[in-house]
Amino acid sequence: MLQAIAQLLILQNTDQRLREVTQALLQLPQEKITCEKALQDADQKLQSIRSRQQELEREIKKNEGDILAKQSQIARYRTQQMETRKNEEYAAFNHEIALGEKAITMLEEQQLELMEKSDLLQPEIERAQEVHTIEHKRVNAILGTFDGRSENLLVRQRELHNARPSLTLDIEEDVLDRYERLFKSKNGIAVAAIEHGVCTGCHMQMTTQTILSAKAEKEIMACSQCGRFLYTEED
Ligand SMILES: [Zn+2]
Repeated sequence: MLQAIAQLLILQNTDQRLREVTQALLQLPQEKITCEKALQDADQKLQSIRSRQQELEREIKKNEGDILAKQSQIARYRTQQMETRKNEEYAAFNHEIALGEKAITMLEEQQLELMEKSDLLQPEIERAQEVHTIEHKRVNAILGTFDGRSENLLVRQRELHNARPSLTLDIEEDVLDRYERLFKSKNGIAVAAIEHGVCTGCHMQMTTQTILSAKAEKEIMACSQCGRFLYTEED
């Protein structure tokens, strides 16, 4: 292999790792936001089912009050009925009392339905609480790794960054310039192998002449399609 290509490959390997580390560092804040959102979602789901339960409890309490109010109203009617001497008024109280009792029957039926709903909700709440606990545990475990991961990535980034200058020392300036432009514009691959007659950077079929020149290892070759530096390890 040409010395220049070998040096470029070592540099490219370092630059690719540097790029990965830098991207991983950039993704950390977004990952953190995703985690926090997951925690909020879990809280909201549990809160929503608890609110439904509270709403049912309020309705049950209100019904209870309504039933008691009707009962004491009926009791008052009965007292007043005992005190009247007029037949029409007596009959009118009977009517009111019957209406009140009918209303109580309806309220009691409603009450049973509400209590049944509340009972059915109970296992759902327990499940929601379990899911909530599991989700919090899962997400907090991920969040717990952030500081360590961030620290490791920063150390790695510094190491790669510090190692880089010594890798460029023996590379000709114009070659290095071209390499750096290619690395940026060609998605982190500036030096590509020819495999089975194809540039592995752009998958273009190379001419026999290009392949032979690459094999001859007399000068640095570039792909006529993508411009990447080429080398071949095939016979
Ligand atoms: Zn190419």
